[in-house]
Amino acid sequence: MQEVQQVLTASLYTQQMKKLSRIGELLGLSNEELESLSTPERVIQVKVQVVGPDGKVKTYIGWRSQHNSALGPYKGGVRYHPNVTQDEVIALSMMMTWKNSLLQLPYGGGKGGIRVDPSKLTRAELEQLSRNYVEKLHKYLGSEVDIPAPDLNTNSQTMAWFLDEYTKLSGKIDFAAFTGKPYEVGGIQTRNYSTGLGVSAVARMAAKKFLGGIEGKTVIIQGFGNVGSFTAKFLQEMGAIVIGVSDVKGGVIDPKGIDYERAMAVEREKGTVTEYPTGRKVTNEQLLVSECDILIPAAIENVIHKGNANQVKAKLIVEAANGPLTADADIVMKARGIPVVPDILANSGGVVGSYVEWANNKMGGIVEEEEAKKLIMSRLEKAFEETYKMYEKLSDQDLRTASMSIAVQRVVNAMRMRGLI
Ligand code: GLU
Repeated sequence: MQEVQQVLTASLYTQQMKKLSRIGELLGLSNEELESLSTPERVIQVKVQVVGPDGKVKTYIGWRSQHNSALGPYKGGVRYHPNVTQDEVIALSMMMTWKNSLLQLPYGGGKGGIRVDPSKLTRAELEQLSRNYVEKLHKYLGSEVDIPAPDLNTNSQTMAWFLDEYTKLSGKIDFAAFTGKPYEVGGIQTRNYSTGLGVSAVARMAAKKFLGGIEGKTVIIQGFGNVGSFTAKFLQEMGAIVIGVSDVKGGVIDPKGIDYERAMAVEREKGTVTEYPTGRKVTNEQLLVSECDILIPAAIENVIHKGNANQVKAKLIVEAANGPLTADADIVMKARGIPVVPDILANSGGVVGSYVEWANNKMGGIVEEEEAKKLIMSRLEKAFEETYKMYEKLSDQDLRTASMSIAVQRVVNAMRMRGLI
């Protein structure tokens, strides 16, 4: 029972509600307004099925949460993970509303997920799963309605299946209905690395403000998936020293530095970065509290919480995952004077890249890689400067509060103008 209680209080949904109510207080929002802001406009639950090679039908639950459309069509990724719950998807969709608002993208917030362990499915089963998810949801999707993208354990291949199934069922050739697509099917060249590019750029901006620059700074990155690996690559190119990386199997720390190319090769050959030939092996828990200048959690939510926040030794934290710090951890970091660059800013390179792709599809454009990169960088710089200015103005608040107050205020303004609150 106690265990259940702990899981409940640590849920991403609870954490996001706590974070939002802090903003509500700061902005002077009423309880009614907060209720309206936090309630998703629509949550669709679907039964997703796959016929295995043995002919047996496997059944999974999936969701799409359409949180808020005051600023535009719903936008956000779809994740495949065995721990996905409806509450988690709702919380993530709310975070997308704030993220898109902070970046001033013409989108509301949405998020989807299927409660499934994708590592247990064959490629053919994954294709069926993805197609079936869209079959159940296609009426609620479209480039002017709700635009999914990759998230945890989904990728450009998933988007290609989504798009193909959507086209068959809707009869519409609407490439902008999904983003993060392969380059061959309306995607853009930055798609693989947009988020990592953004995380590293934001880390550099924050390091300049708080640590006197990025060069020579030691970095630990938790998670070596799409986001973590590209973040490592770009930070290394910027002259930072990545000293720790990890994946689900554990981590490795080498104070002399972990080379990105070598780590990628190890990952490719041995299936895990923990086999990196130098340094010492650590658990993910140890990795998070190891000595470094910059800590970048790039895996899953709630990894830094009341229980370990005091042991974190980094001087700066950059949230590459969605929700890696709990609301309690925020309080600890603020008290300890450790700046935390919030997820909605730090990992927004992904959705900004999505915007570039969507706009390009919409106007039948031919955006080039360098141009896409420039668009992503300039939008991130603007959002960072705005957040930092607000942080200085508020003076006694953290960066999350600064960024969320800007984002939530914009949504509130739009809702008021439209007569929604
Ligand atoms: N899944 C990414 C995120 O959490 C990207 C979403 C998108 O591009 O729509 O921001």
